[in-house]
Amino acid sequence: MGEAGDWLKEERRKTLGDWVSVCLSCGLAQRYFEEWEADLPAACPQCSGEMRWRCPSCGARFTSAFTVECEACGGELRPRELFGTPIRKGARPGSRRSGSP
Ligand SMILES: [Zn+2]
Ligand SMILES: [Zn+2]
Repeated sequence: MGEAGDWLKEERRKTLGDWVSVCLSCGLAQRYFEEWEADLPAACPQCSGEMRWRCPSCGARFTSAFTVECEACGGELRPRELFGTPIRKGARPGSRRSGSP
């Protein structure tokens, strides 16, 4: 993740929603706006798997469809393996989280 994609991210936020809900089974991602949260389906429209849009530990929302670890508390948001393939994100050796927001 870098600064290069920030403008694109902003564009997407405007058109598709600020937050994302993901299917724990097939990985389907659905973007939504805060006001849509009450209407989010609990089951995946594609595979009927469990949809998750909040961190089970702290309740933080997700901002990326590829999030596997809560940005707020570092808790696991969903299984790292999907279809037997580990989800990779930018490896940050050493510190798992930065101290300040
Ligand atoms: Zn699914
Ligand atoms: Zn959390």
